[in-house]
Amino acid sequence: MHILLVNPRGFCAGVNRAVQILELAVARYSDKTIFAYHEIVHNSYVVNHFATQGVRFVFSLNDVPNHSVIMFSAHGVSPQIFDEAVKKSLKVIDATCPLVSRVHQAVKNYVEKGYHLIYIGHAGHDEVVGTVGEAPQKITVISSEQEARNLKYQRTPNNLSYKDLQLACLMQTTLSITQTQQIVNILREQFPNIEIPERNICYATKNRQEAVQILAKKSDMALVIGSANSSNSRRLCEIAEQQGIVSRLIDGVDEIDPHWFSGKETLLITAGASAPEYVVQSCLAHLCSMFEVSVEEIVVCEENVVFPLPNDWI
Ligand code: SF4
Repeated sequence: MHILLVNPRGFCAGVNRAVQILELAVARYSDKTIFAYHEIVHNSYVVNHFATQGVRFVFSLNDVPNHSVIMFSAHGVSPQIFDEAVKKSLKVIDATCPLVSRVHQAVKNYVEKGYHLIYIGHAGHDEVVGTVGEAPQKITVISSEQEARNLKYQRTPNNLSYKDLQLACLMQTTLSITQTQQIVNILREQFPNIEIPERNICYATKNRQEAVQILAKKSDMALVIGSANSSNSRRLCEIAEQQGIVSRLIDGVDEIDPHWFSGKETLLITAGASAPEYVVQSCLAHLCSMFEVSVEEIVVCEENVVFPLPNDWI
């Protein structure tokens, strides 16, 4: 079997930064329990790694004692969570990806200017909850073409008609580029004056998706390494499937089933933006131990983005 190892894959700059900040925090506060609000990134290996170092992952600040150290994940949190942390006198370590912060800022700017926002994203995802929390009454979340079409006949949370409003559209950073474009086209058709800024979906999502789209054409199966709750990993699977090949999302080596590869000649391997490279390498080593394989790494685009650490962590 021939393996096409996709490059770029795995950790993006935002995940790298969040993981580095938590590593430094574990060292700096070695005498304290560090609490992390939600998963630092959506990957079970990363979460388990920090859990074994004593980091406690919580889903509510009620589970965090006053005056503790709390880490906010790469997905960001709503202003309400920041306020709650202040009330509890928590020491906040904010690892929100700068590209997610940029969307929060865009929400604030538009709302200040009187816009209502259509936000394309998966309701309930940590990033969506955090962003929508900036202005819940001024944001409508949609996730499909049908929901975009329906807006014409619906009213906002403040009971206003969308047609009568100044609208702008923002979106979750890890969506499928092609599916989102279809939703955007419908919004433009229905609301010709809607403002849609460029650079909504992040560079890492775009690069990983485009690479899979290109290389899936040369493959007959895709193995995507990433956790089931990782939005960008799931999108990579979908994109491979859209190119007509079988696609499997695996958290790690234990989930590999040798039967999957029967009759397969070219296997594409990639990893979502929160999947560590050592998991990719262990999967490769496992495949090499089971089958006769040749591995070819293909660089579809160079990726050199680095987000600096916040000043107090340098
Ligand atoms: S996927 Fe994009 S938005 Fe999300 S953490 Fe990575 S760089 Fe930031």
